[in-house]
Amino acid sequence: MAEKKLPFTKEQLIKIIEQYPTPFHIYDEAAIRENVRNLLKAFSWAPEFKEYFAVKATPNPYILKILREEGLGADCSSLPELIMAEKAGIVGEDIMFSSNDTPAVEFIKARELGAIINLDDISHIPFLEKHAGIPELICFRYNPGPLREGGNAIIGNPEESKYGLTRKQLLDAYRIMQDRGVRRFGVHTMVISNELDPNYFIETANMMFDLVVEVFRTLEIRMEFVNFGGGIGIPYRPDQDPVDLGYLSRGIKEAYEKKIVLNGLHPLKLYMECGRMITGPYGYLVATVLHKKEIYKNYVGLDACMANLMRPGMYGAYHHITVVGKEEWPLGYIYDVVGSLCENNDKFAINRKLPMVDIGDILVIHDTGAHGHAMGFNYNGKLRSAELLLRPDGSVEMIRRAETIEDYFATLDFSGL
Ligand SMILES: *Cc1c(COP(=O)(O)O)cnc(C)c1O
Repeated sequence: MAEKKLPFTKEQLIKIIEQYPTPFHIYDEAAIRENVRNLLKAFSWAPEFKEYFAVKATPNPYILKILREEGLGADCSSLPELIMAEKAGIVGEDIMFSSNDTPAVEFIKARELGAIINLDDISHIPFLEKHAGIPELICFRYNPGPLREGGNAIIGNPEESKYGLTRKQLLDAYRIMQDRGVRRFGVHTMVISNELDPNYFIETANMMFDLVVEVFRTLEIRMEFVNFGGGIGIPYRPDQDPVDLGYLSRGIKEAYEKKIVLNGLHPLKLYMECGRMITGPYGYLVATVLHKKEIYKNYVGLDACMANLMRPGMYGAYHHITVVGKEEWPLGYIYDVVGSLCENNDKFAINRKLPMVDIGDILVIHDTGAHGHAMGFNYNGKLRSAELLLRPDGSVEMIRRAETIEDYFATLDFSGL
């Protein structure tokens, strides 16, 4: 069970709203720090464990700085993400550049920062060489393809995924890099997303350790690290459980001992690049009820819309909703909770059981700390909200202001009309 509590009281929230009008996302710094510490503690047995936070989940330099202070690196896949990591003080091999379909300028910037470059395709070798030069450390992204043939039935259908190299290409790519004089190597994969079953990740670790052994046997390359990618899910629904990090870690440790240690390949560094599980549960979208409407169904209309949180409209994703101050009221009403887009997908919840909602009520939408504000857009002239940080001492800092109409018009020159 995932308890859907708020990190502030109604009184505190009303004070915050007096200063920063709704809608906004607010992130709980103390909870993020504690969560990161738990992850690192779970993997403290590993020779060197590093989590590279997937910047796309919450691209805010203040969040990145907190994560850097806790010892995390950054997983970037675009030029702005690289620049943001740099501004937050994350540079060198604390950046994993896991891009695909990559433009040259991004490789150039990644090389300039000394980032670990994780190539998505064998054809990127000459591209990288031409535009940015070959670095001393290189990583490739593995796409295991139709896994059933390899005796691994548990992971989905990576052959439908656009990412990574095939097994044969992977071995060719390491050989090419070996010939180019590269001496430091890593390997990466990411085959699942928002997954709550830790066995999938343990299975991935087994698969990757087998690969490390195979690369050593065929090419005499001793891999420096394995990057398992991100994809650890979070309990969006109250009846779901978070991933048991202790179980996950023990399963990976067992595989490590059996496959890496026994084959004489210890020490091997273990990396992850999770986004969602780092910040997701510790962000909240706060909105005010503007209207109620009763037609064939009953609607609650907020001052936030899909531009502030796309996941429900895009994937039908569940996000828990708390009506602030009515936590103990009976869930006696059924509403669609909607925004103002001229797009019927713009619903935060459909047929949701809630206490009676009144105009002016404050609604908190849970688990918006990852892929929330980050996926915002301006369709229909909607503006992205502010982002606030709830400090461990209870104070609140604005870490990104809300967009203004001037921002919306900034790319237009009306004088040409
Ligand atoms: C999106 C992404 C991640 C992070 O995924 P989460 O589901 O947020 O953990 C990590 N690595 C790569 C390459 C990604 O594209």
